[in-house]
Amino acid sequence: MNINILVKLIMDQAKEKGFGTRPEEISVAEKIALIHSEVTEAYIAYRHKKFDGKDCFAEELGDIIQRVLHLCGIFNIDIEKEILKKIKFNKKRKWDCHKINENHT
Ligand SMILES: [Mg+2]
Repeated sequence: MNINILVKLIMDQAKEKGFGTRPEEISVAEKIALIHSEVTEAYIAYRHKKFDGKDCFAEELGDIIQRVLHLCGIFNIDIEKEILKKIKFNKKRKWDCHKINENHT
């Protein structure tokens, strides 16, 4: 299975459930807010060390991806192409990790 097949499955479900399949049927701001809410849910699951069962970290990461792919389907974005393009671009980029204040725990 590739990512564009996932987009097709998500769009089929969106049509069936009435979540919107065309830009004029949705609010982009609302869809982005919902992506953000899934990011928060993933953070909370991780923070509470919830790694299995309902609402676990992995499930919330899946929710994020589903919501992003739903937007890709609505706007006919070939997300596989976009990701591959960015990976290629990032190969040439340099980051100064010592200047980035991130805590990876
Ligand atoms: Mg969720």
